[in-house]
Amino acid sequence: MKKTKLGTNTNLIRGGLNRSQFNETSEALFLTSGFVYDSAEQAEAIFKGSKKGFQYTRYSNPTVETFEKRLALLDGSEDCFATASGMAAVFFSLMCQLRAGDHLVSSAALFGSCKEIVKNILPRYGIEVTFVDGKNLNEWKKAIKKNTKIFFFETPSNPLLELVDIKAVCNIAKKHRIKTVVDNIFASPVLQKPVSLGADIIVYSGTKHIDGQGRVLGGAILSSKKFKENVLKPFLRHTGPSISPFNAWVLLKGLETVKIRVEAQSNAALEIAEFLNKHSKIEKVFYPFLKNFSQYSLARKQQTLGGTILSFKIQGKKKEAFKFINKLRIFDISNNLGDTKSIVTHPTTTTHRVLSEKDRLSLGITENLIRLSIGLETVSDLKKDITAALK
Ligand SMILES: *Cc1c(COP(=O)(O)O)cnc(C)c1O
Repeated sequence: MKKTKLGTNTNLIRGGLNRSQFNETSEALFLTSGFVYDSAEQAEAIFKGSKKGFQYTRYSNPTVETFEKRLALLDGSEDCFATASGMAAVFFSLMCQLRAGDHLVSSAALFGSCKEIVKNILPRYGIEVTFVDGKNLNEWKKAIKKNTKIFFFETPSNPLLELVDIKAVCNIAKKHRIKTVVDNIFASPVLQKPVSLGADIIVYSGTKHIDGQGRVLGGAILSSKKFKENVLKPFLRHTGPSISPFNAWVLLKGLETVKIRVEAQSNAALEIAEFLNKHSKIEKVFYPFLKNFSQYSLARKQQTLGGTILSFKIQGKKKEAFKFINKLRIFDISNNLGDTKSIVTHPTTTTHRVLSEKDRLSLGITENLIRLSIGLETVSDLKKDITAALK
């Protein structure tokens, strides 16, 4: 199948299809760690790489490969390596290319565990880190040093939906032969294509929109073929953050519906953001496709929709925020996102609890901030639930 000829939905249903000798309709689940060879000569050829074939599931597996090919078609990158979780994707996408003495520049507004990796784990291995305000192009430029190897950022950010201008930041990086690693988890590969804006490496958590039904963990690193073969694979094969074929199979089936889910959930999220924007008990709403959002025009430029997540500050403090959260009847109190079930989160006390109070407040994460991940329930039911809880 030539990928350029086919539409997104066709690729999501049929991309990477690799039927076995039984010609099954649905993708087969190859729950196997190893593979058998016809002869010692064939084993030698496959291990040498002169003949195509699977060796060991830590390296690759037919089910995992189908997932990787299908996700690469959606994202637009040449190649993909699936990992056990989104965090494994983030960590290994950085570690595979960094060594002691290198310098990394990162946007300050990061998901809690990403921040922990960049701020506290990388420096343990002699890697220098500078944090910048991702919105400010001058700060990216000014942070560059002779040993800068990577620019790292997420956009929109968790939980305040701050955007980084992907094209502009990638252009700065390219001029200085710096690689960009983009965490595209919040937007999902459906709404935003960093590779088309110049990004080198894109990371996903399959756990979020790709599964989208709260079942399994998984992740993926997308890149050029050359980067995967020369940098990523040699590092990952031996360090082993591989995904289970079972999880890859669940994510693969998730990809078949990810576009219609993410689009429907994003449309519902916009409706709820507009509704909250007018509500008297709400101080401020954060949603990229709201006309009064501070980076609205950038959002329209680099995303096709506003996304499935919105945040807002309720009038009052932690007490009022908790009261609202506890009164909701349909929304689940949880910390996942991108799920078909709508979820409410209090970032200060859960997802961003590891940050110091100073760091948290400097990012604008206050006690009255609430994050909503909008699912696939009937939108009017969600609005009624919110209205009742705000009373
Ligand atoms: C959830 C998330 C991750 C980590 O993904 P896991 O699959 O939970 O390991 C990384 N970055 C962002 C922005 C996320 O939302």
